[in-house]
Order: sequence, then structure tokens, then C-alpha cells
Amino acid sequence: LISQPFKLVSREVKPEDSKFQAGPLVLGGKSIHVIAGPSSVETRDQIVGTAQGVKKAGATLLRGGAFKPHLSPYEFQGLKHDGLALLAEARRETGLPIVTEVKDTATLPQVAEVADILLLGSRNMQNYALLEAVGEVRKPVILKRGISATLKEMLMAAEYIVARGNTRVILCERGIRTFETMTPNTLDLNAVPMLKSLSHLPVFVDPSHGIGMRKAVPALMRAAVAAGADGLLVQVHPDPPRAISDGHQTLDFPEFEKAMDEVRAIAGAI
Ligand code: PEP
Repeated sequence: LISQPFKLVSREVKPEDSKFQAGPLVLGGKSIHVIAGPSSVETRDQIVGTAQGVKKAGATLLRGGAFKPHLSPYEFQGLKHDGLALLAEARRETGLPIVTEVKDTATLPQVAEVADILLLGSRNMQNYALLEAVGEVRKPVILKRGISATLKEMLMAAEYIVARGNTRVILCERGIRTFETMTPNTLDLNAVPMLKSLSHLPVFVDPSHGIGMRKAVPALMRAAVAAGADGLLVQVHPDPPRAISDGHQTLDFPEFEKAMDEVRAIAGAI
């Protein structure tokens, strides 16, 4: 195993699993939580309808991007403040807590006001100013693994947040860049048992970005839960081919419902 220069996030320092409050939920406990929703918030009907659909299937939190840092500056960058307002409306309608991305320190206060959990995207895993800033906020943070980051680098990034006083950090494996080119990313399921042995923090998996292919997402949902993940982050949209972003890796409601049944069966068996 790697040597452990990290301290606060280390299991050596805190042998028992971290459990903490996120909105009305306790994350990191025995039950697996599934965060589901679209890549981008698009319209009121889309986000409220998705919240209702994923809740019915068993998701316990809603995801949706309002501030979207995309690869190209010409891609949709999100509805921004209007998107946050629509997320808040979806929460009022369904009671599902909101998970949404924070892309920079300038917009952090507005995003933190609405979000129940802040999502720190893979491109920002080593944005130290943002890591320190979310470390000061009293909201849980999902830290996504950088596309070329080692597990040690990810744990050091988590250490930045915890060192500033925010102990509610969730580690999220979301696929890394490998020599394989058939899929945009390669989900590194090694990360689940490795992170859980090295750290007390909850470990989630994003199978949507992990493989980047809609049809293959349910298999990786099952695999992540079988590997011991504490939760999943899954992209779901009422009509994936029409989604503004990430439709190719997004499940529709029937696909998500079926995958959730399978996940429940696996979770019940382990
Ligand atoms: C996301 O989950 O919306 C996202 C952009 O993921 P990542 O940062 O892992 O690419």
C-alpha cells in the first residue's frame, strides 16, 4: 500500500467509518444512497419531473448542474442562478436534497446557499483555492477524482478540505484516463476498496462518467455496489437523446428503475 502522508482523512487516525448529516439524510451509514438527475438543469418541467421520477425509483438525492464547466467554452455553461432556483423548486416539490456543482470561488456563496451537498467536479480536484474555500463552508462536499489523479492525490485534495474544518467530505470515483479509447473514461473500481481501507470517508461512484455509455451504466452501478460503494451518482433525464449535455451516458426513467431494482438486490445480498 502507499505510504500515508495524509492525516485527517486517514483511517489510521479515525478507524470507524465517517457518517454525517446531509440535509435530512445520514450518509456513510449502512444504507446506500443514490444521487440521480440530469447533467444540466434545463427547464422547470425537466428538473421537477426528473426529481419525481428518480424519487419514485428510490433515489434519495437529486443532482443537476446549474454552473457547468464544460470542456469547450462554446458548450452550454448552465442556467446558472436560474438553474439554482429551479433546483430549489424541485426540492420543494419532492423533498429530495440537492447536489449541484460549484465551479469556482466567486459563485460558491450563491451555490452553497441552495445546495444541500456541493459537488466539486473532476476538473477542480486540484483547484486549491476552491478546496480551501469549500473547507470553510458548512455543507457536505462530494470530491470527484481528477481524470488523471492518483488515489493519493485525491486523498490529499480531501485533506485540504478537512484541514479547513469541513469534515463532511465524500470521495467519488468517476473514471480516469487510461490507454483505452473505446470509452471516454475507465472506471477504476480498485478505488472503492482502496479508498475505504485508507480513509474513513464515504466512497461514492459515478458510473455515468465512469464508462460514458448509457447502455453500460447499469452494469457499473451493480459492480460499484458489489465492490462496497456507499453510494452512486447517476445521470438520469426524461429524454436522454434530447438532453443538452451528457445524453449519451444518461439513463431514462425505465432504465433507471430497473437498475435500481438490481442495485437493491445486490445491496441486500452483501
Ligand atoms: C458532473 O458530475 O456533472 C461532472 C461534470 O462530472 P465530472 O466532474 O466527473 O466530469
